[in-house]
Amino acid sequence: VSPTQAEILQRLHDGHVNFLRLQFSDVLGTVKNIEVPRSQFEKALSGSVMFDGSSIQGFTRIEESDMLLSPDLSTFLIYPQFSREEGERGKVARIICDVLLPSGEPFTGDPRHVLKRQIAKAAESGLKLFAGTEPEFFLFERGEGGRGTTLTNDQAGYFDLAPIDKGERIRREITNKLVEMGFEIEGAHHEAAPGQHEIDFRYQDALAAADAISTFKFVVKRVALEYGLLASFLPKPVAGVNGSGLHVHLSLFRGGDNTFYDKAGEFELSDTALHFIGGLLEHAPGMCAVTNPTVNSFKRLVPGFEAPVNVAWSTSNRSALVRVPAKRGNSTRAEFRLPDPSCNPYLALAVMLAAGLDGIAQKTVPPPAIQRNIYQMTVREKRHHRVRELPRDLYDALDDLERDEVIAGALGAHALEHYLRAKRAEWRSYASVVHPWEIGQYLELV
Ligand code: GLU
Ligand code: MG
Ligand code: MG
Repeated sequence: VSPTQAEILQRLHDGHVNFLRLQFSDVLGTVKNIEVPRSQFEKALSGSVMFDGSSIQGFTRIEESDMLLSPDLSTFLIYPQFSREEGERGKVARIICDVLLPSGEPFTGDPRHVLKRQIAKAAESGLKLFAGTEPEFFLFERGEGGRGTTLTNDQAGYFDLAPIDKGERIRREITNKLVEMGFEIEGAHHEAAPGQHEIDFRYQDALAAADAISTFKFVVKRVALEYGLLASFLPKPVAGVNGSGLHVHLSLFRGGDNTFYDKAGEFELSDTALHFIGGLLEHAPGMCAVTNPTVNSFKRLVPGFEAPVNVAWSTSNRSALVRVPAKRGNSTRAEFRLPDPSCNPYLALAVMLAAGLDGIAQKTVPPPAIQRNIYQMTVREKRHHRVRELPRDLYDALDDLERDEVIAGALGAHALEHYLRAKRAEWRSYASVVHPWEIGQYLELV
């Protein structure tokens, strides 16, 4: 249940909050804030704050730039203090906003609205998507002038008295802050690579899960900064070790019942679950540019590092794109292992839901589950088992996105057009740079 405007004003007052951040996200997933002082709290909560949309990536052209921020009252929270110095300046609260046109209509290019459209579509069939997210990230040392490095605290260890402890301590601190903010955290642990960590959220409805990720990244970075470290969500910051994923455990409820569970089904999975998985696999190439949106994302999707390379599902192994964990009953779920934490969580969840719903609508039957290590399968075996490959780079992924009517349609014309334009420019910028690898490989050879 969502608090009323009056209740929030009271909490702002009682909590000695000096600033309220009105938060939304641009098309690429960068979190935007408009911070208002006390005198503007009432106006902000009533949804009367305007901003210039033309300055936001992927929003509008200059001619139609005025937009309104309409706060979703259920998302109100007061930030914990991150440092003593901050405490003296007074507390900060945040509320997540929908972006509206001056007419009061939702702005169709707002990523949160893109997700809400899919949620509404699911609701037409009485279905609701739940998502349990597992963001992974690295904690890196900062070098000269505070600039980020890719040296991990664990590696740089011999400069530190208790090297391992530092990462653990920061992760605990991050978890405490998140819990203080009201997030339900199921666990936190060190990941496979040096300096790599993971924090797992309890499953929640898709919109809340996307809201949580956008705030989560800020909190992680903020706490790391307090310890002089850099927290990075870059999917593959260090070659030769695991990259960082953002696995999402998906389940579809009808009222209190998980529609993925069927005691009598194969693997105790319902047809709905199989069709949903079928849709995820079918549209994985088209989704990739959204769930894995950077040039660097594709350096994570290589064999040998627990990240998916092929389009396949499994009830056991981690080389698959979709894994169905052992839990059944209301905990039955599909773990979608493709996304990485550089994605826009709203768009990513929107395309996952669109893919799954399309699978249900088309009754898409997934290829048989693969229980062995897919990294070790030969090309021939893969063909035999109907295992397709994911796009190899951002360039191909953008073409796959444009071609996939379901996924492109889920983004909607506005977001799609801006997304493709911005990402193709990003690709061109990367492709025109001469990289150290090329110099090392060719300079003297050719
Ligand atoms: N870090 C791996 C990835 O890139 C996942 C490891 C795990 O199974 O948690 O997706
Ligand atoms: Mg993990
Ligand atoms: Mg996982």
